[in-house]
Amino acid sequence: MGPSQLTSTPVETLKGVGPALGEKLVRLGITHLADVLFHLPLRYEDRTRVTPIANIRVGDAVVVEGRVISCDVAFGRRRSLLVNLQDDTGRIALRFFHFSKAQQRNLASASELRCFGEVRRGSAGLEIYHPEYEKSTGKPLDQTLTPVYPSTEGISQSRYRALVSQVLAKLAQTPLEDFGVGNDGPGINEAIATLHQPPATVDVLALQSGAHPAQRRLAYEELMAHYASLRFIREQVNEYRAPTMSAPGNQCQTLRANLGFSLTAAQERVLDEIVDDVTDGKPMLRLLQGDVGSGKTVVAAIAAVQAQESGFQTAIMAPTEVLAEQHFLNFSQWLAPLGIQTSWLTGKVKGKKRDLELAMIKGGTTQVVVGTHALFQKDVAFKRLGLVIIDEQHRFGVHQRLALREKGNEGNQIPHQLVMTATPIPRTLTMSMYADMDASIIDELPPGRTPVTTSVLPESRRAEVIERVRTMCQQGNQAYWVCTLIEESDVLESQAAEATLKELRAALPSLQVGLIHGRMSHAEKTAVMQEFKGGRLNLLVATTVIEVGVDVPNATLMVIENSERLGLAQLHQLRGRVGRGTGTSYCLLLYHPPLGELSKRRLSVMRETNDGFVIAEEDLRIRGPGELLGSRQSGSVQFRVADLIRDSDLLPRLKVEADALFQTDPDAIKTIIRRWSNLPDTMAQV
Ligand code: ADP
Ligand code: MG
Repeated sequence: MGPSQLTSTPVETLKGVGPALGEKLVRLGITHLADVLFHLPLRYEDRTRVTPIANIRVGDAVVVEGRVISCDVAFGRRRSLLVNLQDDTGRIALRFFHFSKAQQRNLASASELRCFGEVRRGSAGLEIYHPEYEKSTGKPLDQTLTPVYPSTEGISQSRYRALVSQVLAKLAQTPLEDFGVGNDGPGINEAIATLHQPPATVDVLALQSGAHPAQRRLAYEELMAHYASLRFIREQVNEYRAPTMSAPGNQCQTLRANLGFSLTAAQERVLDEIVDDVTDGKPMLRLLQGDVGSGKTVVAAIAAVQAQESGFQTAIMAPTEVLAEQHFLNFSQWLAPLGIQTSWLTGKVKGKKRDLELAMIKGGTTQVVVGTHALFQKDVAFKRLGLVIIDEQHRFGVHQRLALREKGNEGNQIPHQLVMTATPIPRTLTMSMYADMDASIIDELPPGRTPVTTSVLPESRRAEVIERVRTMCQQGNQAYWVCTLIEESDVLESQAAEATLKELRAALPSLQVGLIHGRMSHAEKTAVMQEFKGGRLNLLVATTVIEVGVDVPNATLMVIENSERLGLAQLHQLRGRVGRGTGTSYCLLLYHPPLGELSKRRLSVMRETNDGFVIAEEDLRIRGPGELLGSRQSGSVQFRVADLIRDSDLLPRLKVEADALFQTDPDAIKTIIRRWSNLPDTMAQV
């Protein structure tokens, strides 16, 4: 077997893999031997030692051994079998909700048990639900940590482990090519073997936190593969042509003159970058970053006018209906005086109205279309799409961007793309994880903005906060009250908002209080937003649907409930709804004590700074769950070992190393991409 044979040998050659198992493996993206190895463990179980009961912490998965001191059926809210186990250090309960008579007798007759499971706090103190158990103790323990693999499509963990063992044996004879990347750690072959079968001596803590050198070696290569595939996408895009637009003309001048303000130096600089891109015949792929309220939308509108002057249509895509609507209102307000027809298309535009819109887009009467992902749908055809503007990039995956690009694909020509994001991304991440795009940054706010003053307050001061709302509103200002829940559930969040609405209406009878949430119809939402914009509502109770894009300069107070549960990026977005006018604005972050360590740090970052880039960098450091590029990036890349945030320190070096390999050894780059290419189709093209 030559070195590359693991990548070219089908899994069916393994012992015990027939057509049925082969089928299941294919569903995991596993067709060749090497794929088995790159399907890496999600986590590990430590069955190499027995943990004294006194040392157990809730949440640990442990092996415990002890004497059975009781075995009884407990009648709580649910009937269960409860076994009490004791060692020399303490006592723990095993609880079975499903059990047979035979199992009960068997456990009752046992004098000692060894069991394994995750420990939780239950009504009987420390408990393990449905542990694995055996009636003997003192047998030899496992020699290595037990890997637990991600979803295995009906293949049992032990069966998968057996496959891995077979392939590891072959790996020892025919190692994978190691291109010496990230070369101060173990080589690729050693790293793979360690992660599948960690020796008992392994640094368990490092392994569990993803900091083990073997994990870092693989994370390095995985991130490199991702970076390199983006570079390939970029190179492919460069093979295409794009509309050559004319320089900005009279219409652009008129729009600027009508704005009522002059652009900041940063906006001018970014516009110059865009103009350079769209006039040279090559496709633009530009990421436009700017803090909330920095004036990205105006820049996008000017670009759309330039496209129109050159005879091309523009599509603007937003992640939510509310934001699409906001853009539609802004764009049509700016473009209508120029005689430019703007329309909007979301999933909610149906029937005759939709047919009409589609006809106008296809016929070219509509020059600018604003919408949600509905713009991707098959029946949407453009006459001459020249520019695609995508807002809030995190919520769309690479695939979706590519899909919209296809809409303007005629012959060898594709539209220009401008991707706007209000969640600033640390520089190292942009360079390596958005390697298919050029980056522009608006790093300056329009003049006259005063930073939002932020305070952090426990729930016990709610009455005071309500009083603040009353005072602010009586002075003629407006306020938001944002209800948030940790579950990503529209229903629950909306219910919470309705309850808060009742509470605040009762507490503030002199104020007009409105409500907006994700379960309302589009028409209802629009009506409420218009009431609020028009100043007929003093206070708007909202869910996180107002997170992006809503622009009411007179709103100067924002209260955010359960702020301890939100990530920094989201808090920053929400806060960006105030501080949009010239008056001083305030943000009050309510929390439920006690604050965890991470929440405490997040909230103090919010109190200390308004700078989105500083916040993004802090976010990287603090790293709460699902923040930054985490859950908001759903639909985008899932890594196997790498964690974009935890491993971000690897990025600068891997970029340099990959760039060099592109020159010296493009085949190495391709091999690396291929062995990690579980997902994007775009990678498969390489
Ligand atoms: P972003 O999209 O970056 O969040 P917007 O484009 O929505 O920001 O701009 C926020 C607000 O600031 C809008 O009301 C916009 O009209 C206004 N604005 C934009 N640029 C300027 C500027 N240079 N001077 C004054 N106001 C501006
Ligand atoms: Mg905006």
